[in-house]
Amino acid sequence: MSKVLSGKEVAQVVKERSHKIVQELHEKKITPCLGIIRVGERPDDLYYQSGLIKVCREVGLDFRIIALDQETNQQQLENAITSFCDNKSVHGILLFSPLPSHLDEAAARAKIIKEKDVDCLTLGSAADVFTDAANSFAPCTAAAVLEILKHYHIPIQGKRAVIIGRSLIVGKPLAMLLLKENATVTICHSKTVDLPSLCREADILVAAIGRAMMINEKYVRPGQIAIDVGINQHPQLPGKICGDFDYEAIENIVEAITPVPGGVGSITSAILIWQTVLACQRMIMKK
Ligand code: NDP
Repeated sequence: MSKVLSGKEVAQVVKERSHKIVQELHEKKITPCLGIIRVGERPDDLYYQSGLIKVCREVGLDFRIIALDQETNQQQLENAITSFCDNKSVHGILLFSPLPSHLDEAAARAKIIKEKDVDCLTLGSAADVFTDAANSFAPCTAAAVLEILKHYHIPIQGKRAVIIGRSLIVGKPLAMLLLKENATVTICHSKTVDLPSLCREADILVAAIGRAMMINEKYVRPGQIAIDVGINQHPQLPGKICGDFDYEAIENIVEAITPVPGGVGSITSAILIWQTVLACQRMIMKK
């Protein structure tokens, strides 16, 4: 039986770390605040929003929500972002996506100022992640994977990491974070030839594909650390979610594994709050 890497355990540690700094800030009469901008009522957004509110309350943060209706226009959206950028009591900004198709998401994201870009939504922040600049925050999901590895003292330096998925929010930035930790990184995608054998070469295997239970016993070997970023509808159990791993098929082969639910997804909100607290702390130190 492999070791289960619990996202809930890691999230708790991240929340406690945030809470400690928030208490120090409260003593200085400062409360970090997350500004959330939502367009429409997508169930995913509402679910993520309620999770974030819960973490804000647990940790002691303020939050502001601008909820725009589905028909909102580009100018109204950008005005909302600018209002959070200009508001000194808001320290981090999250814009839910995808936006309705009539809106220009890239142009909207570009309005977020870097200091408040706590989920790496702007090209400037992404460039910092890709150039190892210390100023910006990585996308929360990529940061969550690194947090798990560090929490469980999993060696990264010199290890072979294979990431399946090359999106700008998970695969690519995660590759940069692991590279910075001196892993040797391979990024795979839908055109990769002989994916199973490449995956078996990994010491650390990360799946960020979005294909329910695709990674089975053919893709793994004993001794691997297996991290599942995927969140998919379970093909056989309506209303349940599952990851990209066929968990039952591989849990007895690999050394350690993250479950879904209860793995990477459980940490993302805690990381977003942590990055908001850090953004607040940095703004205060700059003054
Ligand atoms: P994308 O759809 O943007 O990227 C998926 C990647 O998987 C692409 O690079 C694609 O390759 C690759 N891929 C698809 N099919 C195959 C295949 N058969 N073999 C190899 N590679 C394949 O997804 P995201 O990165 O946004 O998300 C990935 C997963 O992570 C999803 O399940 C999503 O729900 C989850 N997620 C979880 C989060 C959390 O925990 N909080 C946050 C963000 C995402 P190609 O580029 O060639 O098309």
